[in-house]
Amino acid sequence: LEQAVAEPRTHADRSDWTWEQIRAEFPVLRQSIDGHPLSYLDNAASSQMPQEVIDRLTWYQSAEHSNVHRGVHTLSQKATDAYEKAREKVARFINAPDSAQCIFTRGATEGVNLVMHGWGRKFVEEGDEIIVTALEHHANIVPWQMLCEEKGATLKVIPMTDAGELVVDELPTLLSDKTKMVCVSHVSNALGTVNPVEDIIEQAHAHGVPVLVDGCQAVPHMKVDVQALDADFYVFSGHKMCGPTGIGILYGKRELLEAMNPFMGGGDMIRTVTFEKTEYAPIPHKFEAGTPSILAVVGLGAAIDYLESIGMDRIARREAELLEYATQRIEELDFIRILGTAPNKASVISFEVLGVHPHDVGTILDTEGVAIRAGHHCAQPVMDRLGVPATARASLAFYNNKDDVDALIGALQTVKDIFG
Ligand code: PLP
Repeated sequence: LEQAVAEPRTHADRSDWTWEQIRAEFPVLRQSIDGHPLSYLDNAASSQMPQEVIDRLTWYQSAEHSNVHRGVHTLSQKATDAYEKAREKVARFINAPDSAQCIFTRGATEGVNLVMHGWGRKFVEEGDEIIVTALEHHANIVPWQMLCEEKGATLKVIPMTDAGELVVDELPTLLSDKTKMVCVSHVSNALGTVNPVEDIIEQAHAHGVPVLVDGCQAVPHMKVDVQALDADFYVFSGHKMCGPTGIGILYGKRELLEAMNPFMGGGDMIRTVTFEKTEYAPIPHKFEAGTPSILAVVGLGAAIDYLESIGMDRIARREAELLEYATQRIEELDFIRILGTAPNKASVISFEVLGVHPHDVGTILDTEGVAIRAGHHCAQPVMDRLGVPATARASLAFYNNKDDVDALIGALQTVKDIFG
C-alpha cells in the first residue's frame, strides 16, 4: 500500500525536553501578527495543537478513515480500533475504572446537557433542588435552569467572595433532602480559582447527593483522578487540551450511567430495534447515537499521548511559574486591577485596565501580536458579582514563555499611552 503521507513518528517521553523545544512543536505559534511575533494567551478559550496531533489527524484521514463499529472490512476495523483506543487513553488519563464509563460528546457543554436530559429529566421532580456555584460557566448553569423550569425545581447557588473563592461553608445550609445534584467547576474559566471540589463532593455525598464536576479548565493543567475525587460525573473538552474541536468527554459512575435515559436515539446506540420496542446498547454506546466525530476522537487520543509525554505534574509546575511571573509583572502596573485573587489559581489572569473597556484593551493588544480574550467569558453571574460588565483575560499554557508575558506587559503600556 502506498501512502501519500508517511505514518507519523511519535515521542513517548518528553520529560527532559526544554520548554523551548516543546514550544517549537506548535506550528501556529511561529507566525507574526502585524509584524509582531504571536503571543497566544487565550488558551482557556482554545489551546493550540502540536505537530504530532496534526500529523495523527492527517494520518487518520490518509490511511484509516472509515465508519466505526459497522464494517467487517479492514479500514472500518482500523477506524474502530483508533476510536476505541482513544477511549482507553482517556480512561487511563483521568483514571476512570473502565473506558466504558467515558462517553464521547461534542464538548463539555454537550456532556452537561447529556446528564441534564438523561439523568435530570428522569430523576428530578417538582420541588427538588439543584445546587450550582457562583463561579460556573454558562454551560453548567443554563442546562440546570432549563431543567428547573421544566420540572418546577429550584436552582440554588453557592456564593463567592470578592476574591473569587467559593463560600463552601454555606453548602451545609443549601444541602437538604430536596437536593438532587451539585454542579461545580473544578477550575473557574473566568478567574482561574481552583475550587475545593473534594470538600464539596464529600459534603454532597454525606447527603447522598451526586456531584457533576466541570473539568474543562482543570484537565489541561493538572493531573485529574476521577476516582480519587469520587466525582459522579466529570466533563471536559478536547480543544482546551491540545486536541481538536468537536470532541469532549463525559465520565460517569457506572450505576448512574446505566440508570440514565439515552440522550439521542438513532444508529449505534441500540442492541435491537422493532416497531414495538427498542433495546438500547450498553454504555458507552447507549449515549453515542449516530456516526461520531471519529477524527476528533483520534486527535484527542493523540493530544493525551502528547500531554503524557511531557507529564501533567511537569505541566502544572511550569504553568504555576508562568502564572506567578505574569501576576507579578501585572501587579507592577498601577493602572491595572486583577480580578480573582484566590491563593489557589490555575493559569488564568482576569484584569481591568482602569478606565478602558476590555474590548478596547483586547483590540490594542492584538495590534502588538498579543491574543487575549475580552468579555464576560460565558460567566455573566461572575461579572455581576464583581460589579464589572467584562474583563480582559490572559490565560497561559505550558508552551507560553516569559517573552509572551513581556509582550503582554509592553502592549498594556501601549494601552495606557493611548488612553492616557
Ligand atoms: N466550562 C468551562 C469552565 C469552560 O471554560 C468552557 C469553555 O469555555 C465550557 C464549560 C464549555 O466548553 P465547550 O464550549 O467546549 O463545550
